[in-house]
Amino acid sequence: MVNKQKYLKNIIDYTTKNYKVITFCFIFISVPFVYWLVYATGGITYVYSHTMYIPILIAGMLLGKKWGFLTALIAGILLGPLMPLDTIQMTQQEPINYIYRIVIFLLIGYLSGFFSERLKEKNLLIKQMYSFNQETHIPNTTALLDYIINQKNTNVNRITVSIYINNADTFRDAMGVSTYSKFMQAIYANLNSLVNNSGSIGQSGVSKLWLFMSSNDIKDDAKNIYNCLSQLIYIDHIPYYVDFSVGALSVDAGKQINSLELFSFTDASANFAQMNKLPYVIYNEDVFKKKKNIELIRAFREALEKDELYLVFQPKIDLKTLKPYGLEALIRWKHPVLGLIMPNEFIDLIEETQLIHSLTKYVLNKAISTIYQIEKLNYLLSLSINISVKNLFDKNFSSDIIKIISKSKVNPKQVEIEITETALMLNPEESKSYLRKIYDEGIQISLDDYGTGYSSLAYLSAFPIHILKIDRIFINAISEKPAVKQIVKSTIELAHQLGYKVVAEGVETKEDLDDLIELGCDMAQGYYFAKPMKYEDLLIWLSNHK
Ligand code: C2E
Ligand code: MG
Ligand code: MG
Repeated sequence: MVNKQKYLKNIIDYTTKNYKVITFCFIFISVPFVYWLVYATGGITYVYSHTMYIPILIAGMLLGKKWGFLTALIAGILLGPLMPLDTIQMTQQEPINYIYRIVIFLLIGYLSGFFSERLKEKNLLIKQMYSFNQETHIPNTTALLDYIINQKNTNVNRITVSIYINNADTFRDAMGVSTYSKFMQAIYANLNSLVNNSGSIGQSGVSKLWLFMSSNDIKDDAKNIYNCLSQLIYIDHIPYYVDFSVGALSVDAGKQINSLELFSFTDASANFAQMNKLPYVIYNEDVFKKKKNIELIRAFREALEKDELYLVFQPKIDLKTLKPYGLEALIRWKHPVLGLIMPNEFIDLIEETQLIHSLTKYVLNKAISTIYQIEKLNYLLSLSINISVKNLFDKNFSSDIIKIISKSKVNPKQVEIEITETALMLNPEESKSYLRKIYDEGIQISLDDYGTGYSSLAYLSAFPIHILKIDRIFINAISEKPAVKQIVKSTIELAHQLGYKVVAEGVETKEDLDDLIELGCDMAQGYYFAKPMKYEDLLIWLSNHK
């Protein structure tokens, strides 16, 4: 069991050592000074003797009743038998005079010490309450951070370590708080013997410990911590194993540290160790990326609420008339610090969370209101949105999308959904049935990035699809590589036979365009016609391409 009093006393002693020395110096100088002052100004008859209360009170309050009493006694003697009533006539004081003063001095010195000690005890009690985990009685992270802040010696290498006790939660639920508390205390004791006065440990939450200590070699220390945690814990002679993950980070000598930030890095490392089933992870590039990704996901949640997202629109051109017939809505994220973030940098991350549903709904709602606004300006254009496979496999997605469109005044035929071939192939049967519901409502379905996966068109013909979008890696090579041109040609022909329209993505040059027209491609999209634009720029572009 941790000795809380002793633990806190160590911290408090550490922080108070300095001012104790200063107080002693002050008393050592001020008491003789007041003696001199009283003597020089004519003796005890005059008012200056009251100055002596200052060192007596300070001694009592800062050094306790013992020193308060002693200072009062010395001061009483100096201003008593040793001090004349009048220094010019050298008349002595009546004993009753100085005895009474000495008693008053002693009372003041003693009582100020007594009350300040009571106050310190209360203070210690409060500190105890917020410095320890209430269940395990292990110092918590507040105590640890306190310890780190008061570390004066930064001229040694140090390490910060996060230790996740993965089975602590279940242990607590299964065995009860008292056994859990013994379990955690035993782990703490093992680690403490390793830290051996060169650092400190704090518990955060039910299952996490943070450790800070001086270190010679982070790898050795991580291994030692690993070995230490691998020991079985015996409670009432029953052995229990500790399931743990460790993340560590070294702090070079002389470097100032922001402890909370450092522990966020080691937490990420321990998380990484936990996910990848590694015994310990020393903070590295992989963890950094993972941490950045998690931060990006967290920021995205706020981005949705704070309106940091917006849509840009890229026109799609009908190759028979060379006029725009539709638009593709593409998401953009204007991060307040990181600036513009493109979808390729965050869509994959967001797809790992439920946020992808909020994103798609956001895009759909914005897209529908855009079609509506554009229609009022007399442009009849379709608008496509990109959806993720996670959307498709969400039970409510197809009905939600149908509801949103039917509530609006927009014709479902004007709304197009783009989904990639690779996404469909993750679960072809389920994809088919979800797509069918959307298809039956008249909403257009496009197969995006066609050609980047491995499925044949013959296989894809079983899916309810209206449009095939040939990926830009083919279109970019069409005018230079005859073989690619041949592939595109046969893809277009086969797609037509299956009843699909074909869109060429990424048309960048006049040659690409000419080839595509020659091959009978129906529609095209690409920088040659227009880059994705904000709504206001789109209106200008449309007015120039009526
Ligand atoms: P995508 O659906 O295939 O969109 C076409 C991408 O190609 C867009 O990139 C567009 O800016 C770019 N592009 C268009 N024409 C050309 C060209 O001529 N040359 C080149 N080099 N690029 C061209 P963007 O906007 O960065 O989007 C990348 C991908 O991110 C999209 O590929 C789509 O898969 C995804 N995405 C974009 N917005 C959303 C969204 O709202 N939801 C979801 N789930 N995914 C989105
Ligand atoms: Mg697309
Ligand atoms: Mg594409």
